[in-house]
Amino acid sequence: MTAIKRILVTGGAGFLGSHLCERLVGEGHDVICLDNFFTSQKANVAHLLDLPNFELIRHDVTMPIWLEVDQIYNLACPAAPGHYQFNPIKTMKTSVSGAINMLGMARRCRARILQASTSEVYGDPEVHPQPESYRGSVNPIGTRACYDEGKRAAETLFMDYHRMNKLDIRIVRIFNTYGPRMHPFDGRVVSNFIRQALSGEDITIYGDGTQTRSFCYRDDLIEGFIRMMNGSSDFIGPVNIGNPGEFTIRELAELTIELTGTSSKLIYEPLPADDPTRRQPDITLAKKHLDWNPTIPLREGLAKTIEWFRGIDIDDYRPPTPNF
Ligand code: NAD
Ligand code: UDP
Repeated sequence: MTAIKRILVTGGAGFLGSHLCERLVGEGHDVICLDNFFTSQKANVAHLLDLPNFELIRHDVTMPIWLEVDQIYNLACPAAPGHYQFNPIKTMKTSVSGAINMLGMARRCRARILQASTSEVYGDPEVHPQPESYRGSVNPIGTRACYDEGKRAAETLFMDYHRMNKLDIRIVRIFNTYGPRMHPFDGRVVSNFIRQALSGEDITIYGDGTQTRSFCYRDDLIEGFIRMMNGSSDFIGPVNIGNPGEFTIRELAELTIELTGTSSKLIYEPLPADDPTRRQPDITLAKKHLDWNPTIPLREGLAKTIEWFRGIDIDDYRPPTPNF
């Protein structure tokens, strides 16, 4: 039987955070969800609110907070380009000050802490697929830098707390993850395409659609998180968690059209600055150390996601920022 732990999930009301909370609550842990609801809403965790082992705190991770916990999953950060670019200074503060606050808490409580890092630390990669040893190609002064460099600085802080204070850390580099409960207005490609397809709007491809991404279904990602958090202290990461199945954005649009049966047309819009050309995780380390492999192919995961989008009332969601 798993020992019951007190677990803090920052960004716990978001797309990935809410699923993580659900899984941890289901395992019987005492879960604290901390969120400022910048890109999410309470509805994502409303079904957990009455449970005795779930607690919700509205709080901004850039501000200190005093809690007693055994594990921390640090997910608080806007993740979609339109939202992290809305207030780039705040995004950087969220990554850096947020990490410092959570690392300080972990040090005081001797808690294990996991950072939700990102494939964006590789920038627009010259190495393909990307192994964890690749140091990346990030434009430090571009419009994506607030997120990419913020996440890179957070990784640095995690490693330095580990080296200086022997803090028990884990770093996971997440590659594009999708699934039910994505915010319909978060501006990311999967949610945009499905929302547009279901409402019969044009499907907006940025650039010529030949850029690639590798899409991981959220259940696979959450399984990777849990294995990494509870795995051996000999393997702290960074570890890539993502599905190596690589698709062009045009292929994703065509699959969305096929699975929704929409009559929406493809339209082409300018490619945003510094948009990575190719992205695919090398998951050798995750397989070796965590015995982790993604199990849900894009076609299956996309169908489940479309089904969820069909069931929601779009009027229940407000766009977090005008930038989507
Ligand atoms: P999301 O936007 O749904 O979740 C982020 C959550 O953090 C939201 O609930 C938001 O309100 C909260 N938040 C933002 N700033 C905060 C602050 N200052 N204080 C407290 N809460 C704050 O996005 P997601 O896809 O669930 O991403 C979760 C984490 O995973 C993020 O750290 C993101 O960078 C990382 N990640 C996600 C992906 C992906 O494809 N989904 C890829 C790489 C990394
Ligand atoms: N994209 C697109 N149309 C959209 C939204 C995104 O063509 O409506 C493209 C975007 O330019 C990028 C890819 O899809 O090349 C993935 O974008 P997303 O914002 O989902 O994630 P990220 O770029 O951070 O991987």
